[in-house]
Amino acid sequence: MSGISQPRLIVHGGAWNIPDELDTDHLNGVRRAVEQVYPALEKGMPALDAVEKAVNILEEDPTFDAGRGAFLNERGEIELDAMVMDGATLNFGAVAAVQNILHPVSLARRVMEKTEHHFLVGSGAQLFARRMNIPELGPEELLTERELSFYRKIKNDPTFYTRKPFEAHPMDTVGAVAMDIHGNLAVATSTGGTPRKLSGRVGDTPVVGAGAYADNHSGAVSATGWGESILRVLLSKTACDLFLAHSPGEAARKAIQILQQKARGLGGIIGINRSGEYAFAHNTRKMAFAYPRLSGQIIAQIKV
Ligand code: ASP
Repeated sequence: MSGISQPRLIVHGGAWNIPDELDTDHLNGVRRAVEQVYPALEKGMPALDAVEKAVNILEEDPTFDAGRGAFLNERGEIELDAMVMDGATLNFGAVAAVQNILHPVSLARRVMEKTEHHFLVGSGAQLFARRMNIPELGPEELLTERELSFYRKIKNDPTFYTRKPFEAHPMDTVGAVAMDIHGNLAVATSTGGTPRKLSGRVGDTPVVGAGAYADNHSGAVSATGWGESILRVLLSKTACDLFLAHSPGEAARKAIQILQQKARGLGGIIGINRSGEYAFAHNTRKMAFAYPRLSGQIIAQIKV
């Protein structure tokens, strides 16, 4: 691509039933990520750096189910998944089921840039983190009171997974999509997964085409929601393909319809098409997201 254009950035802080009393934290969190990263993108920061930085900010924020504040699995442990993808090359890096790392998305980026591979999991990913000198924190440093008490509440509830999936609890996976001044697209997504998931469970987030996808020739998308259903329809790649034939809003809505109709799924997506137009849709009650208007004004929304 040639020429310099106005960059784009959109971030999300999860979909689902965000309790009304947490709306402000979600809106402030996604707004802050855009406020802190967009000026650098305007000055020429590459899209890949921008999405990593935006997701780092959200991983640090205990509001979200990513990095600090993540859900606990059935064993009361935090296992994190993340991926990053470069729309210029289709190169990507992903990690799954990593523990005691604040920024799994940065580990995913190292996988992409420092190995011959795309995806590392569990103990191998952990070993690679040590080799890359990524600091390991004590488990308590990622743990929040909110998630500990939620875990204690649902730990022995036999009906938890038979109810409408995870009703009344937010799913706060985070993601960012950017187009830099050179027109390159990138995406990053990071999550603690779902509450009380089986140890070793990996959802959509680190799976290319499911939790995220980026291709300069179509667009870039980050997904959030019920990972098992998102995996079945490769939601992010599906939405990117739809960008080729539809307006961004239509493409996003159609992708969510496919999720709902084919997989009885629930979730949301944010994206940017190859022309730099924003797209978002969800079939959950809420989805927290933020992006800057061309005027520079930052829009932070919790419903479409
Ligand atoms: N999609 C994530 C997962 O299933 C959860 C989320 O988006 O909140 O792991």
